[in-house]
Parts: sequence; structure tokens; C-alpha cells
Amino acid sequence: MPESVQIKVYGRCRPLTQDEADKGFKNVVKCSGDKMLIESGGKEHSFSFDGAYSSDAKVKNEQIYKERCEPFLQRAMEGFNVSIIAMGATNAGKTYLMSGTDSDPGIAPCFIRNLYQAIGERSNKEFFISVSYLEVLDERMSDLLNPHVNQMKIRQHPHKGIFIEGLSEIVVHNWEEMSQLYEQGTRVKKLGARDIKANQARAHSVFTITIEQRTRQSSKVGVRSVVCLADLAMGEVVGTSDPHAVAGLQGLMNVLSALGGPKKGSNVPFRDSAITRVLQDSFGGNAVTLMFAVVSPVDKVHKESLTTLQYASYAKSAKNHVKANMDETAEIIADLRDEIAKLRDKIASTSTPSRDDVQKLEDLVQDLQIAKMSTWAEREKLSKKVEEERKVNLANKGILDWVTDNMKKGNRELQEKMLILQKEKDVLTAQYSEKRSNVDGLNEEVQRKIAEYSKYQDSGKLTDSETKKRVTAIHEIKEKLKKESEILKQIKSQLKDVAEKQKEERDEAKSQMSAMKGNTELRQQVEKEERLKVEKENRAMIADEMEKMKTEFETEKSHIQLKLTENKTYSAQEVSHLEVQLAEMKLEKPVTTMKIHLMEQEKERLVKELDDVYQVHKDELEFQRLRHLETFRAYREMFEEQKAALDQRYRQLLEDAIQDAVFLSSRNSELLEENQSLRQQNAEMRDSITKLGGRLPSQTV
Ligand code: ADP
Ligand code: MG
Repeated sequence: MPESVQIKVYGRCRPLTQDEADKGFKNVVKCSGDKMLIESGGKEHSFSFDGAYSSDAKVKNEQIYKERCEPFLQRAMEGFNVSIIAMGATNAGKTYLMSGTDSDPGIAPCFIRNLYQAIGERSNKEFFISVSYLEVLDERMSDLLNPHVNQMKIRQHPHKGIFIEGLSEIVVHNWEEMSQLYEQGTRVKKLGARDIKANQARAHSVFTITIEQRTRQSSKVGVRSVVCLADLAMGEVVGTSDPHAVAGLQGLMNVLSALGGPKKGSNVPFRDSAITRVLQDSFGGNAVTLMFAVVSPVDKVHKESLTTLQYASYAKSAKNHVKANMDETAEIIADLRDEIAKLRDKIASTSTPSRDDVQKLEDLVQDLQIAKMSTWAEREKLSKKVEEERKVNLANKGILDWVTDNMKKGNRELQEKMLILQKEKDVLTAQYSEKRSNVDGLNEEVQRKIAEYSKYQDSGKLTDSETKKRVTAIHEIKEKLKKESEILKQIKSQLKDVAEKQKEERDEAKSQMSAMKGNTELRQQVEKEERLKVEKENRAMIADEMEKMKTEFETEKSHIQLKLTENKTYSAQEVSHLEVQLAEMKLEKPVTTMKIHLMEQEKERLVKELDDVYQVHKDELEFQRLRHLETFRAYREMFEEQKAALDQRYRQLLEDAIQDAVFLSSRNSELLEENQSLRQQNAEMRDSITKLGGRLPSQTV
């Protein structure tokens, strides 16, 4: 039986920043017990929550984590889904609360550290942990861990629940890996924020940790918990009329309103926006949810703060229905294997197996394949593959070095700039293709309407009023087309600006890179990928341009047709004008073709040049290597020579010494002999003197 739990809601107001204090902004938010009080529109509004943190209490994020979030980690370890959500307007302090700083770590780093502590305490369990990081901006989803451009889709799975196809799931093995991924993703998100503030004010993000655990060497069934750490934007849509932007913000408000606000009891419109679909379990579903209503104290933004507190208070009365999630993959696989074996035996034992059995076997094998894809081993494999892709995608965004983490500061700043530009370009490109298909659609509509009109006109079946109606309709669409085309043109020129800036940054980066010693191979690879990307973009641009000209031509043709069927006679001036236009158009085609041709040539030349440079560079490297080898060889020879000379000299000295020794020793014996013979003579002389009777002085020898 699911357990019914209420969403816990806490208020948090940040202090005034130094800058705000200097500017003399006033603080309009106070706390009193569990209440948040705000002055807005000359009135004090009061909201009761499960707790409140005021700006002057100077409470650290970690304390909030300990008091409010730690119990939620316990629930996650028991297999319950957990959502911790920071909701507020831009600049309210959501990122500060969720990510924090080095000296005041936020909820996410605290949770991650605490999670691994909890895992460490459970040595009888095996864990399998993976993460993903999603950003939703104006209904467009992006993968913050692996910034690819592939389509992503929200899907529902009978066992797994809501999941996002195309979002990278990365398997992590320790605290460091998870923290690093969280930081990298947050950085990718933050970088976008600096330049396109208005956009970022509407961006939601969700860091998802999937925790699976099994008792070691025992049951096949494990438990599974999905933990969402979300940063949700709250506020009015400003600076754009994009319906996706409206849906992206309004969707969340509508859901909260239906859960516990004025629209309570009505159908909860989860499906109206991407973020509410992704977080469907968090609001009224199978998750224990904790929400922080994060507000700025600044008087100037009192309205936004009031809205946040208002909607957060709606969340408070929502009830979720939770139960621990069983993970039965292993059991399902074992059952499937059993069934397959049995069926196989059955088929093998008959000479004419039934068609149904064969079909069933095929289905079972397919089921097994699918089930195996969600085993730990398969997911680990897939995650390894994603790791490679991730490096390339981050490199394409100019942020490879965050992964390899060996970058100088200057370089880092430059790369950050490049990332911002890329993000800006991605947004513009998406807008462009959307507007483009709008314009194309309108163009087609005009053509169709004109063709229809002229058909009727020819048949003479049209009454005057019908004619008028049709012509007015055509003109209305044409007006719309004109406006849309104008916007399209603007986006295009913005795109051009961004491309130019990008080129400048790239050149700058290149000059920096060549000054930097580093991994040459890697650099070459990054440059090559960059080049291929630009090429692809150029090709798309040309194709787009051609397509556009074709449509314009078609439209122009149908306009002429329209004028003809409107029975308008052309003045000589109009005719000549049309002729000029026609001639221009005729001319334009070969000119464009030529331009394209020239561009192709230029491209080939550039590619060749680059390859040459690469070759020269490679040759140079090879040459240097050989030269170093040569120098080394020369030194070695010199060394050998000197060694030989020294040996020689040493041998010589030794020989001399030996000869000296030999000489000295033979001389010594000579002297000894001489001495001996002198003694002999001496003795003989003494004898003869004594025989002659002489006296001798006493012997002194
Ligand atoms: P958001 O993510 O909601 O747009 P930020 O987290 O970026 O807002 O916070 C906006 C500003 O307020 C930043 O300069 C941040 O450093 C500061 N800030 C937010 N919360 C606190 C806090 N609790 N203590 C001190 N400064 C804070
Ligand atoms: Mg933020």
C-alpha cells in the first residue's frame, strides 16, 4: 500500500549582497518562526511553511542540509524516490543553496558526500549508482553532462516510470566522480547564464541520481531509488513572446495551482510542459518531496518574491503517494531464460514446430535483450561509451580541458567565452529553423491560395464578394509572411554576428594554443573536428539559401499569376519593373552557383592548406626528433672517445708505475747485493789485517 506524505516546504531568504546594500536597496522579507513575511504593494503578506530561514540568521547551507535533507537521504536508501527542489526567481539564491561555494557547500555536494558515507556503512550491500543532468529551457531539453545536439524525448516505461530518451546516464563509482560530474554540469549551465541572462532566468535543471542496491550474494530483487536535485525557475516571462518560453514557466505554476492553489481539484496539467512531466513524481506522485521557496530580500523584486512564496504555499497542501521501488531485473531475466530454455526444448523435440511457438520464442528473446540492457553490466558498458562521446562533445564546445583538467587561467576564460557564444548560437539556430519552417509554411499557403483562386477565377464561378474574400485572405497571409520574413532576417543577421565573434575567439584560441605546449595529437583532433563542424554548417547554410531562393521565386511567380488573374493590366512601368526583376532573378542563379563553386574551391584550398600545415608541422616534429637523436649520438660518441682516452692514459700510468716498481725493486736487489759484497770485502779485509797483527777500531757497521 502506498504511503501518503505531504510535500515539505521551507522558505529561505538570502541576505542583501554587498552591491545591493551599497545601492541602498531595502530588505522587505522577514521570518517569524515558520512564517515568511513580505511587504508588497504596501501590505504585509504572511506564509506559513514547515520552516523558514531568514536572511540575517546567517545559516549555512550545510546546517539546512542537516536539519531538513538528511532524513530524505535515509528514505532514498530504503528505496523511495526523493526530490529536493529549490524554486525561485532568478537571482534569488537557488544556485547558492543547491551548489553553494567552497566555504559554504550547497545541498547537492552535502547530499553526495552523505550518500557515499551511507554506502560505506552498508558493507553487506552492493550498489550501482548513475547520474544524469538535464536542463530545460523554453521546452527544449539539453544534456549538461554530455552537450550533444541529438533529439531527446520524454518517455514513460512500465517499470522505470518517466525517463528521458537520449539523456546520458553516467555510471559513477565514488564520491569524487559524482561531485566532478555535478560541478562540470553546473558549470556548463552557469556559463550559458552569464551572457543570455533573460534566457537563463527561465532555465530549469535537474540532477538525477539513480541508486540501486542488492544484498550481496543473496536475493535477486533489489531496491531502486531516483533522487532528483532540481533548480526551478519561477517568474513572469519577460522579453519574449515565444510560446515555449511561456509554457516553460507557466507550466510549473499551473501544476502547483492545481495541486493546492485556486485550481485545486482540477486535473493536474503535468503534460503541458516538459519540466512538470519530468518531475511528475515529485508533485503528487511517487516521491518524497522537499521544496525550498528561495527569495531575494530586495524591495525592487518584491513581486517576484511574493509569487514564489505564493506558489510554494500551494505545494504545501499537495499529497504524494509513495512506496519503495523494487528492482526485479535479475529475477525477470532468470524467468525469461527459464521460459526460453523450455520453449527451445519443446521446439527441438517435435519435427514440425508450431508457428506460434517459434514466434513466441522470438518475442521472448527480444524481451530478454531489452531486460539485459538494464542490467548493471550493460549500463556500465554503455556509460563507458558515453564517456568517449562526452569528451568529444565537450571538446566541440571548447571545454575539453575541464575534463582533462590541465588548463591555464587565461585559456579557461577564453574557452568560457567560446562556450557562451556556442550556446547563443545554438539558441539562435533553433529559433531560425523554427521561423524558417513558419515562413516556408506561409509561403506554401499563399501559393496554394493563389492557385485555387486562379482556378476558380478561370472557371468564372466566383461571385464578387467571394473574390474579395479570397483576395483579402491572400493579402493577409502575405502581410504575415512579410513580418515573419523580417524577423527571420534579423535572426540571421544575429547569427552572422555570433559567427563572426566565434571566428575571432577561435583565432585567438588558436594563437594561444600554439603558444601552449600540450597534447599535440589532441589539439589537432580538436581543430579538425572544429573544421568539419564549420564546414557542415556552411553547407547547411548554402542549402538553406538555395531553398529560400527557390521558394521566393515560386512565390513571386504566384504573385504575378495572382495579378494576372485579378485581371489587372500592367502599366509599362510595372512591366519593365517585372522584366528587370525577372532578369535579376535569372542572373542571380548563375551568380549564386558561381559563388557556391568559389566557396567550394575556397574550402578545398583551406582544407588543403590546413593539411599542409599539419604535414609541415608533423615533418618539423620528425625533423626535430631526428636532430635531437643526432645530437645525442654526437654526445655519446664524444663521451666514448673521452672515455677511451682516459682509459688509455690510466693504462699508461699504471704501466709506468709497474715499470717503476719493477725497476725500483731490481735496483733494490742490486743495492742489496752490492751491500752484501761490500760487507764481504770488509770482513775479508778485517781478517787479513788481523792476520798481519794490526789493531782495528771497534766495528760500527
Ligand atoms: P539564482 O541561482 O537563484 O539565480 P544565485 O544563487 O546565483 O541566484 O544568487 C544570486 C546572488 O546572491 C549571488 O551573488 C549569490 O552569491 C548571492 N547569494 C545567494 N544566496 C546567498 C546566501 N545564502 N548568502 C550569501 N550570498 C548569497
Ligand atoms: Mg542560478
